[in-house]
Amino acid sequence: MFAVEQNKLAGTSQTHGEALIAGVASLPTKAGVFRAVSFSFEAGTADHMALVWGNVSGQHEVLTRLHSECLTGDVFRSLRCDCYEQLQAAIERISKEDCGVILYLRQEGRGIGLVDKVRAYALQDRGLDTLEANEALGLPVDARRYNDAAAMLRAMKVASVRLLTNNPEKIAQLEEDGIEVSERLAHQLPANRFNRHYLQTKALKSGHLLDPARMG
Ligand SMILES: [Zn+2]
Repeated sequence: MFAVEQNKLAGTSQTHGEALIAGVASLPTKAGVFRAVSFSFEAGTADHMALVWGNVSGQHEVLTRLHSECLTGDVFRSLRCDCYEQLQAAIERISKEDCGVILYLRQEGRGIGLVDKVRAYALQDRGLDTLEANEALGLPVDARRYNDAAAMLRAMKVASVRLLTNNPEKIAQLEEDGIEVSERLAHQLPANRFNRHYLQTKALKSGHLLDPARMG
């Protein structure tokens, strides 16, 4: 059973930036029946969602994936990136565990939003890499933050996580926010001819822990 109850918004004394569970509903998927959990944030509105498998409340070493929204990949299955494959692989992998959670974070385009992401794609079509394109637009290379993710894990009373990630920044930010990351599990999917350069840039310039042999 999923032991997390809906928190009452009134009468709680949350610190700045904490999250409260706002809604919990069953969410059947091809990989099995998950729960969709929505949140209210003290610091403002953010339509993040947790896709929860099993009972994560009070559990240690919960298999966890932080997925930042990528409309072009997640919905249209764009091959410019590996977001769709990463999300689906995470869902499959977590569904084989006793419990686990995917935090779907609404920070499109590494935090620059959809409008600028498409402008950055246009520059990439002219030969810039993903980082250069953001810089040419005067935008941060990676504006993603994981404070909300930490708050969501706290709201669900997840005691510690095993993180599915190639991105050391996610681990650093979660730990900075007081979340215990007991293990990192690599989450690398095979490259295709459209996203190979994007993945190589991630490895070379953004410090992502990717195996070059799998980008060939
Ligand atoms: Zn993507």
